[in-house]
Formats: sequence, structure tokens, C-alpha cells
Amino acid sequence: MNVLVINAGSSSLKYQLINVETQDVLAKGICERVGSHEAFHKHGIDENEVVHDTPMPDHNAAMALVLEALTTGSTKAIDSLDEIDAIGHRVVQGGKYFDRSVLIDDDVIAKIDELAELAPLHNKAALMGIEACKQQMPGKPMVAVFDTSFFQSIPPKAYMYPLPYELYEKHAIRKYGAHGTSHRYISERAAAFMDEPLEDLKLITCHLGNGCSISAIDHGVAVDTSMGLTPLDGLMMGTRCGAVDPAIVPFIMEKENLTTAEVNDLMNKKSGLLGISGISNDLRSVRQASEEGDERAQLAYDMYSNSVKKYIGQYIAVMGGVDAIVLTAGVGENCDKMRRMIFAGLQPLGIKIDLEKNKLRGHEREISTDDSTVRIVVIPTNEEYMIARDTYQLVKEDGMGL
Ligand code: ADP
Repeated sequence: MNVLVINAGSSSLKYQLINVETQDVLAKGICERVGSHEAFHKHGIDENEVVHDTPMPDHNAAMALVLEALTTGSTKAIDSLDEIDAIGHRVVQGGKYFDRSVLIDDDVIAKIDELAELAPLHNKAALMGIEACKQQMPGKPMVAVFDTSFFQSIPPKAYMYPLPYELYEKHAIRKYGAHGTSHRYISERAAAFMDEPLEDLKLITCHLGNGCSISAIDHGVAVDTSMGLTPLDGLMMGTRCGAVDPAIVPFIMEKENLTTAEVNDLMNKKSGLLGISGISNDLRSVRQASEEGDERAQLAYDMYSNSVKKYIGQYIAVMGGVDAIVLTAGVGENCDKMRRMIFAGLQPLGIKIDLEKNKLRGHEREISTDDSTVRIVVIPTNEEYMIARDTYQLVKEDGMGL
């Protein structure tokens, strides 16, 4: 069964065509700057990638281009759209309504729209992707996979904020988390890699990419996560500040004469590794600068690793122990120096990184010493596959023509 996975952003449309049974990626690509004069379409896998500057006034036009690329010319991956059995959409905010992926119908669309209040750019973009697919492929079964649904198991003591309770009642202000599809995937894969049932394990999963989040997964159930009402909370990230003293917000607004939009921009786009180093949000550049003696780059490095280390401590306390710590995404999968710094000094907690294994590259792997009581595992994430798999399962259960 072939599933087209769609990840629509406000001005982008990412896609992958996946054969769920074989896990093969048949095609993938991205349309960027949709709606602007500089729109372009990248299609292909690795060295076979082709890039076209093409006008795309909206997501519907982008979708039409994607389908044309999938079925014609040098980029062709399938003979006709009949070979796409279903479509899986990534949706950022599922709010209280969705604790799992669902088949998309009018009611689901209305709820995603209602939840746009909590994630305005993201949910509206997902709706544009859904609408474009409806127009281009009417009647094709579609599934919504939410970034938040994995965290609906978090108990109230962890998802509530100590603000006046009425704010929760009036505006649904609470922790929802994000990156849930990635945390779900790496926790399942880590258990399989360790050859233990997920239900027997206490895991701390760390998604360290441009965006960063960390979760406590107790016997297969998410009990806490670092992102909050929005993906700004928690760990220090590439350009996002993560958790800071909330009083800083009105303080800098007053001192720097900033509007709410400007302070939002400052905390989301100008902070984190970029804000502290003044060099880049890309850890590779920050690493290079720190190795050349740049003190602020070194500080950024130290702060980032310290922020992850503190959450690991918190979640060990929350779960009363941990069996394995799982790392994924750009930094978690690739940066041996950051991994070394995160785990430095955690030996008294039974967490020992093997410095030689840590240098090795590869797919799923363990980087803790043989005598470490807590295992440290690196698992490359694969959110697209998860979306394809959920779509396959729901469509199959529903018996929609398969
Ligand atoms: P996103 O959250 O956008 O999906 P990724 O998971 O691709 O991001 O992670 C991107 C980040 O991973 C980059 O900003 C970069 O800092 C980091 N990264 C990737 N490879 C390396 C590497 N070899 N060493 C250090 N950092 C790396």
C-alpha cells in the first residue's frame, strides 16, 4: 500500500510517497515559498534531486505540481494516482480532541480549524494541505496524525500551569507538547532495539534538532514532555529560548519597547544557540567557532547541554528511575561532542557514555558502556514512516477499498 505523506507549512508543502509494507520511500520533495514569486519545487532522493523555479500561487497549485512530478517525466515514481492508496497529513495541534490519529471527515476538519486558535500558522496550513488533496484527489482516504496526541496521556499535575484555573477553562491553556510522532517512533524502536517490551521500560526520549524536546515515557505511556502550550517551552533550541523566567517577557517588552509580535519573534527566532553565540542556529557552526576559541559559542554549547542534562534529572525523578535514554534528530543523531557533554558527570546516576562507541556513526546503536545501568541509545527518527503507518492501519481497519 502506498501512502502519500503530506506536511504542509504556511508557505511550504513537504511530501513523501511511502510503500508501507516495504518501508521504501518511492519519492519525496518539497515546494517552498508557496504563494510568493520565488516559489520553487525540489523533488527527488539524494543525488537524483531536481529543482524547478515554478509559480505556485497557493497550496492547491503546489499539490498539482507534486502529483504531476510523481506521475510524469524524469521524476515519475508511479504510473497514475490510482497507485496512491491513501494520504496521511501531519497536523501540529490536536488539542484535547485527538489522543490518536484519525480518518479525516468534516467533523475532524472543523475541529482542526477550531484548534487553530492554539497553533494559528500550523493548523491553518494543514487545512490548506487537506483541502488541496481533496481538490486534486477527491474521495481518496485521508488520515490526520497529530504532533500532540501522544502526549494526551500526560496527567493534569504535569500538563496544568499554576495560573488562575479560569484561564484553562476559558482558553484551554495547558501543556500539549509537540514532536509526539517522533517520540512515539523512537520509543517503539528503542524497545525493539533493546529487545524488551516497551511496556516494561522507563524511557527518556530526546529529540534534539532545530527544535528540541524531551519526554518521560513510563511503561509506554508519555507522562511528561518539555514543550508546552506551544513549541517554545522547555529546552534551549536552535533559535528558540525554551523556558525562561516568565517575568523577563514584560520586562524586555518595556525596556526594549517591543510589541507582543516582536517579543514573540525575539524568543522564537533570535534566541537559543543563535542568540547566545551570535553566529548561527546550526550547531556545526557553533561547534567550529567554539573550537576556534569563541567564548560565546562555547557558552552556547555549555548552556544547551546543561539544559538537556537538567531535564534528564527531572524525568528520572518523575519516573523514579530510567532504563534507557534515547537520542534522535540532527544533533542527537550526529553530534558526538554534544552527547559527550550531556552525559558528562552523570556516572553517579548509573549513566555512563562509552566515548569510543559515541564516535561511531551508523543507524540504530547503543553508546553506553557495558557496565552502565542506564542504556544510552541513538535512534534516527522517522516521522513520515509513522504517519504512513498510522494511515495504513486506520484505512485498513475501516476497510476503505483495501
Ligand atoms: P529539524 O528540527 O529542522 O528537523 P534536524 O533534526 O535536521 O532539524 O536538526 C538540524 C540540526 O542538527 C542542525 O541545525 C545542526 O545544528 C544539527 N546537526 C546536524 N548534523 C550535525 C553534526 N554532524 N554535528 C552537529 N550538529 C549537527
